[in-house]
Amino acid sequence: MSEMNQANHLSDEVMINIIGMHKWYGAFHVLKDINLTVHRGERIVVCGPSGSGKSTMIRCINHLEVHQQGKIIVEGTELNEDIKNIEQIRREVGMVFQHFNLFPHLTVLDNCTLAPIWVNKKPRKEAEEIAMAYLERVQIANQAKKFPGQLSGGQQQRVAIARSLCMSPKIMLFDEPTSALDPEMIKEVLDVMIGLAEEGMTMVCVTHEMGFARKVADRVIFMDAGQIVEQNAPHEFFENPMHERTKLFLSQIL
Ligand code: ADP
Ligand code: MG
Repeated sequence: MSEMNQANHLSDEVMINIIGMHKWYGAFHVLKDINLTVHRGERIVVCGPSGSGKSTMIRCINHLEVHQQGKIIVEGTELNEDIKNIEQIRREVGMVFQHFNLFPHLTVLDNCTLAPIWVNKKPRKEAEEIAMAYLERVQIANQAKKFPGQLSGGQQQRVAIARSLCMSPKIMLFDEPTSALDPEMIKEVLDVMIGLAEEGMTMVCVTHEMGFARKVADRVIFMDAGQIVEQNAPHEFFENPMHERTKLFLSQIL
């Protein structure tokens, strides 16, 4: 077990609490009785076959998708129809997508300052200073005046991470952040994520990068057909998977 997996960085504070959550897309029951508690500083890796509901589950956490049954409580605030609650939670939860989702018509810097200026009402100068510090940190400050289309995929994804960090999130959600990248760019994005983990960020990462899971995760969650089938510490999860579906999945990706 690597030194990062030791659980002593965890606090008792519950950051995400999902209780008996169900979701349907029309008649299709996509998430079935999801129960998940994430503590401050915890790093969760979510894996499972395509179509198992991984994206839907993490999108429910910041209300990009709406659940129909059960509860989702983020930092003590319940996600319900109250728009104030939704806005509160969105301010605290950053999200990074597979396809970066940068604004193509804005420069890298403007991508990073848009929400701090318009949502958090930060003065432009202060927002730009913060943005440059995060761009520095993901080693892309020298590209600040460029447009997303002028950058490589790995660079764009690092900008997307910096953009999220500019809102000072308490939780970061990642949805397959490296799966649209060429192999040589995967490491530069994973390195940024590892850095965040080392600093104690609470993270829920959908990824099939099992090296990352082994190195960083406190807990690996396996989903299949809309359910959490199994979850365990990485060494247990990989060495002793309990369910046939988990064994089959691991045999296909490892
Ligand atoms: P994963 O991220 O694990 O690949 P998803 O959460 O994207 O899975 O999708 C789970 C299931 O829900 C899939 O069968 C998918 O086709 C379906 N699905 C996803 N989004 C929608 C949607 N907006 N409307 C209807 N079905 C959807
Ligand atoms: Mg997905």
